[in-house]
Amino acid sequence: MSIEELYEIYTKHPSVTTDSRKIQAGDLFFALKGPNFNGNLYAGQALKDGAAYAVVDEAVGAGDGAADRIILVEDVLTCLQQLAAFHRQTFDIPFIAITGSNGKTTTKELVHAVLSQSYTTYTTQGNLNNHIGIPLTILSIKKDADIAVIEMGANHLREIAGYCEYTRPTIGLITNCGKAHLEGFGSEAGVRKGKGELFDYLRAHNGTSFSFADYPYFTDMTQGIERQYWYSESATCNKPNLMAAGTIFQSDPFLQIKLQALHKADRIIKTQLVGAYNLPNVLSAIALGRYFDISDERIEQAIQAYTPSNSRSQLIQKDSNQIILDAYNANPSSMQAAIENFARMQGQHKVLILGGMKELGQDSEAEHLKLKSQIDRIGGWQQVILIGPEFERLALNTDYSWFKDQHAAGSFLATGPLTNSLVLVKGSRSNQLEKLVEFL
Ligand code: ATP
Ligand code: MG
Repeated sequence: MSIEELYEIYTKHPSVTTDSRKIQAGDLFFALKGPNFNGNLYAGQALKDGAAYAVVDEAVGAGDGAADRIILVEDVLTCLQQLAAFHRQTFDIPFIAITGSNGKTTTKELVHAVLSQSYTTYTTQGNLNNHIGIPLTILSIKKDADIAVIEMGANHLREIAGYCEYTRPTIGLITNCGKAHLEGFGSEAGVRKGKGELFDYLRAHNGTSFSFADYPYFTDMTQGIERQYWYSESATCNKPNLMAAGTIFQSDPFLQIKLQALHKADRIIKTQLVGAYNLPNVLSAIALGRYFDISDERIEQAIQAYTPSNSRSQLIQKDSNQIILDAYNANPSSMQAAIENFARMQGQHKVLILGGMKELGQDSEAEHLKLKSQIDRIGGWQQVILIGPEFERLALNTDYSWFKDQHAAGSFLATGPLTNSLVLVKGSRSNQLEKLVEFL
């Protein structure tokens, strides 16, 4: 079947799914394969459960009378991406791609909240930012769309370049280039090259970039891009097209930003985000809002109303404890930013609960040692709880508690619960530290 023919089917059945357990009547099911599963095996069941068609790449039994609803292709994943590419080129609207080491989802959600004030905006659901999530996001965009906002994650070179081929962004925003996924990128320079593939695409396709002027590396990375827009902490920064400038007015517990309004008095924007590191994320959403001619009043409304979820920069009040739950993810840059922010907060009894940082490859030991030195240097902690094998040796001969995983830490916390404490909970996703909240 040609991609044009498949697209015809998709236009009648635009609800695309790859999860056979969640089939709804009329879905177009794509039978993907993973290391531990083979979607082809579920195609027959998906059709029984109401899928209109199943796209497969292995011969499968379809059940009675369902054979004509099986679409056999060479490779299901490639087919999904080609279909997304086909759908993308039916739109002549701004496609905003967001990548970077930290803050992509937060930025994407803020940008979506702001742009939705005036435009029908489609965006990535949750964190579906990879080779499957991006095509699914594109295929979720309906004809009434004014703007699309797409999060792109990457942990190795050439990945973002590949996503750009079928997403064809017209606007790109890189939040930052830090120490994340060093295993796949090799070094910070590798991270810049990898994330920079978004700007490479824009450079080659007459695109528009948005970047934080205060990170010097963006000056090089944006070289040669046709239209560049900037945001900064400084209203006097020497970049053209400075779309937003603001500083931290307060960050305890929630971030408040003093935004320099153009030709008007400054305004204070109160967010419901914890963490000074969210300043550039918020500024980027303001910059994009202004670029799309949304008034500062409406931008402010959108940002003030946005509450994070999914254990990102969240503040939770529990009995006598206040918990900053940032357990969604961690890498050396975001860990450092979170601890610096936490150290500046008011609170007498500060407790750190940190999980190991994954995907650091050969830098893992050195980065965990640096983290421990940062904790030692700040000092004054009521308690430090370190979780995961990365910390086992580092916790020896210290006052810090060490546990092999969150189950062990949970049992410990259950025996002597914390009181009147301000607690930072942060670690890589696989530590599942959000499960500790019930013991705090
Ligand atoms: P992922 O790679 O998992 O998709 P992400 O880039 O989408 O992550 P978010 O989910 O928005 O990032 O935020 C994850 C965590 O990163 C936050 O909870 C916070 O600790 C940290 N973070 C967010 N923004 C920044 C920033 N601008 N600079 C440094 N750290 C940040
Ligand atoms: Mg994300």
